[in-house]
Amino acid sequence: MQKIFLFLLLISVTALTAQNFKPWKPQIDKLSSFEKHVLIDKGTERAFSGKYVHTTKEGVYRCKVCGAALYKSSDKFDSHCGWPSFDDAIPGAIKETPDADGRRIEITCANCGAHMGHVFRGEGLTTKNTRHCVNSVSLTFEEKHAKVGVKTNLKKAYFAGGCFWGVEYYMEQIKGVKEVISGFMGGHVKNPGYYDVVKHKTGHLETVEVVYDPEVVSYETLAKMFFEIHDPTQTDGQGPDIGNQYLSAVFVNNPKERKIINKLIKILDRKGLKVATKVLDKSPFYTAEAYHQNHYVRKGGTPYCHRRVKRFD
Ligand SMILES: [Zn+2]
Repeated sequence: MQKIFLFLLLISVTALTAQNFKPWKPQIDKLSSFEKHVLIDKGTERAFSGKYVHTTKEGVYRCKVCGAALYKSSDKFDSHCGWPSFDDAIPGAIKETPDADGRRIEITCANCGAHMGHVFRGEGLTTKNTRHCVNSVSLTFEEKHAKVGVKTNLKKAYFAGGCFWGVEYYMEQIKGVKEVISGFMGGHVKNPGYYDVVKHKTGHLETVEVVYDPEVVSYETLAKMFFEIHDPTQTDGQGPDIGNQYLSAVFVNNPKERKIINKLIKILDRKGLKVATKVLDKSPFYTAEAYHQNHYVRKGGTPYCHRRVKRFD
């Protein structure tokens, strides 16, 4: 009888673990068996064997399964323990759970549950007195500004028009656009995560950074597209997405861009549209988690939240 109970318990625990990772199945399928061993089955890589033990470049370390930003290079320090060590995590990114033996505290990605390693406190190694001991194989590294194009005369434009997946989808189809990055702008919180923004604690808007070649496409063409792929008159969000993170706004780099936007808004006003789009000065742009990038290219399909309506002649 006891054996049956134990068996049932085992089944339910296994099912629960698999269930937790269900939304990430496509990402998990791509992992190597060693990566699965560490990230899913909570294994540990050999000391000094990982690729991020000694790295010092500026950037962000992300979860290898779901892409959530977990650690900043500025919190990384050399602990000589053989694994990448951080004395802090990005707020809310890491979950701590005591091991079954009660001796150590396991750290997992708060977004998807993937195993990172363990956290130790009271070792006196840094002023924060904390060491997140993380497996390199659990992480990916994104170097700061590594994505910016090679061509130096490329420019960047910033638009917020509701769910960034849809805005990114349409902007990427414009000739002369080199790259579109989904992220956040306009709020007061540094390095926000998607789930911080969702909770309305940050003041950020879902914003896309459009990297374009001004010799091929003008800022005005991009701005016209922006006004045609979302409803600039909606005041409480965009389409079915209601909330202040989905408000319509253009973040301008300079007075010239502001002038172009105001001109287009005037044209729309004359056509009877009561434009609610805010024209704001550019502030720091924060890239969203990797799993938000190129959503429709990766997943297929077309946006539920955006469609193009011709508004300019
Ligand atoms: Zn994750």
